[in-house]
Amino acid sequence: MSKTLFEKIAAREIPASIVYEDDKVVAFRDINPQAPTHILIVPRKPIQRIGQAQADDQQLLGYILLKAAEVAKLAGLAETGFRLVINNGRDGGETVPHLHCHILGGRPLAWPPG
Ligand code: AMP
Repeated sequence: MSKTLFEKIAAREIPASIVYEDDKVVAFRDINPQAPTHILIVPRKPIQRIGQAQADDQQLLGYILLKAAEVAKLAGLAETGFRLVINNGRDGGETVPHLHCHILGGRPLAWPPG
């Protein structure tokens, strides 16, 4: 199967501003930022979307959330706050079919989302 866009970024086949990586996840700046800080954290494993995750992904999913909070802290958002977003499917606004968690911060974020 061909690599997803985010697998190519993780493999450095497509340039991105990577802010954190380890053997399980990669975090990089969103190319079209919706807030002063907008980072995506993605598993190296190409799970298509959260709705496709399996029971044996449980540990990895928890890891992504813990690392997202750590990356938010590294980005200086711990004190002012931040939002984590996972879009799933058409109505969820998903455009890249490789699970990713948005880390948004640096301004007050409205609720409910549009
Ligand atoms: P979603 O709409 O939740 O699927 O989010 C996909 C995100 O990927 C969007 O916020 C895009 O701006 C972002 N994106 C698409 N291509 C790239 C890229 N080459 N580098 C960084 N971010 C990207």
